[in-house]
Amino acid sequence: MSFLSEYHIDHAQPCLPLRPTQVWTDPAALEHNLRLLGARCELGPGGVLAVVKANGYGHGMLAAARAFLAAGAGGLAVGFVEEGILLRREGLECPILVLGGLVENQIPAYLDYRLEMTVSSPHKARLVQERLLALEAADGRPRRARVHLKIDTDMERIGVHAAGGAAFLEVCAGLDRLEIAGVYSHFANADQPDSTRMDAPLERLLELRRQAGSGLPAECRWHIANSAAAARRPDTALDLVRPGLLLYGVQHSAELAWLPEARPALRWTSAVVYFKVVEAGAGVSYGHLWRAPCRTRLATVPVGYGDGYPRGMTGRAEVLIRGRRCPVVGAICMDQLMVDLGPAGTAYNGDEVVLVGSQGAERIRVEDLACWQGTIPYEILTGISERVPRRLA
Ligand SMILES: *Cc1c(COP(=O)(O)O)cnc(C)c1O
Repeated sequence: MSFLSEYHIDHAQPCLPLRPTQVWTDPAALEHNLRLLGARCELGPGGVLAVVKANGYGHGMLAAARAFLAAGAGGLAVGFVEEGILLRREGLECPILVLGGLVENQIPAYLDYRLEMTVSSPHKARLVQERLLALEAADGRPRRARVHLKIDTDMERIGVHAAGGAAFLEVCAGLDRLEIAGVYSHFANADQPDSTRMDAPLERLLELRRQAGSGLPAECRWHIANSAAAARRPDTALDLVRPGLLLYGVQHSAELAWLPEARPALRWTSAVVYFKVVEAGAGVSYGHLWRAPCRTRLATVPVGYGDGYPRGMTGRAEVLIRGRRCPVVGAICMDQLMVDLGPAGTAYNGDEVVLVGSQGAERIRVEDLACWQGTIPYEILTGISERVPRRLA
């Protein structure tokens, strides 16, 4: 798996990317955003567990992880155990929490790579204890697992309902091979316009913390806040925050900007590969979904839905060429798309085309692509495919 720069084709050797389509990640922006959010929620950078799952929200997981740690992040969070293993193999030594549900056969990998587990039921907690005891019996080496216990306050995804939370915590505290590093939950509605929708789930977790009293180790940390919660409601920050999206400088939508001072860290560029003049009425791309309304000039750009530039944006997408916003016309193809430069527009082969980012005075944001596609910025970012090489800006 390539997470940063080399371009892999199936199992072939990595080859140098020669195509002009690339994603540029700005580590200085990532560092800035981490400090900004740490200050906003009053925990400082050390209170931020930076979420780098799904290839660092498309930015390149390793580059993102290194930038956040350089800015003082207290640790990292990933979605799956494999992502944590990748970070360890690259030599990262910080705490790494795996947010996803635990599967039994993964337990030895968690131990080998010192990854923190999310334990989401008493059954799974006992499974971990038994598995550790079995490993110890086999070779006589003592084993301990660092775990975060997951409480479901709002989401109905993984975790024990808050009502059963006290019993769950008690079971786990009684399992001596488990080191309880945290107890956490997740908001379902942190990004909804009405921020009071965080009140009830927050109160459920706080009530559990009061009930737990001194039954848990002193170093156990409580957390619930994602980006939107950390930025909008510093009272949800508790001992740690787990932001992703805002650390990358991406807001929830063009209208809902919870941390407007955050700087976008991703630039997605390509280049003009063909220029032509078409006559009025000429049909463009598959299905001739667009016809030239007059004699006009088109540029072809080597990027498409096979790179994660969604086909569903057909008819709405725009790109920047020579500092001007130009419409993408006709169906977006797998590897290519066409842009209308207008009757008097010019572009030369090799001219930079900006899909996301600024050029001159104009700027296109991930939030704009999400709006054109009718989705959320998260899906645009994580959809940028592996065949687009990532570069450091
Ligand atoms: C992805 C994820 C986050 C980060 O969410 P953002 O909205 O990107 O800040 C935090 N916690 C959990 C459990 C997650 O799965």
